[in-house]
Amino acid sequence: MKELLISHYVDTTKVLGPYDRSALWVHGCCFECPGCIAKEMNQNIPQTVKSNDIAEVFARIGNTEGITISGGEPFLQAEALAEMIDLIKKKRDYGVIVYTGFLYENLKKSSDESINKLLNHIDILVDGQYKEELDDGKPFRGSSNQRILELTDRYHSIIRQYYYESNKRNIEINIKEKNVYMIGVPSKYGLQTWKSFKAKAEGKNG
Ligand code: SF4
Repeated sequence: MKELLISHYVDTTKVLGPYDRSALWVHGCCFECPGCIAKEMNQNIPQTVKSNDIAEVFARIGNTEGITISGGEPFLQAEALAEMIDLIKKKRDYGVIVYTGFLYENLKKSSDESINKLLNHIDILVDGQYKEELDDGKPFRGSSNQRILELTDRYHSIIRQYYYESNKRNIEINIKEKNVYMIGVPSKYGLQTWKSFKAKAEGKNG
């Protein structure tokens, strides 16, 4: 089984796609988008997990419709992620949303088979690098150049209502041991709220 380098995961969230879903943040990215908060969000020491072990964890979380995978850059670990999703789908029906800094067209023409395997498992791909100057405050993606692409019709009946008729960014703040994680694409206010929680948890002034 392949190994995955992850930052962290949550069993359930309501702010990273339709329905209740798990969320996984992989560790490491090949891009350096100015204004990226991923490193700050995922400051924890990365952990190595086997794809079958983490697949077992997600498959057993009964109240979720699927998973959202972000990072970091998921396509740097395409083979292990594809293997993980494959194992989950053998046990249950499962929807998959992935955030990537790559453009879909470039992924699609890659000759790397693991990239195609991962693409074949994805229902919604949010693609493109974050561009601070194009951050328009709209929900579910960081900047207006990023596209919400339906690679299957799994979410088609609700995508308009969910993605395009929503107008505010929601976050959840999750406290796990001493770490204060933010889930979701934050507004400026949301980002400040999370930083303030985090500073207090770390014993600094928020
Ligand atoms: S692709 Fe995403 S995680 Fe990577 S640097 Fe850009 S915003 Fe950050």
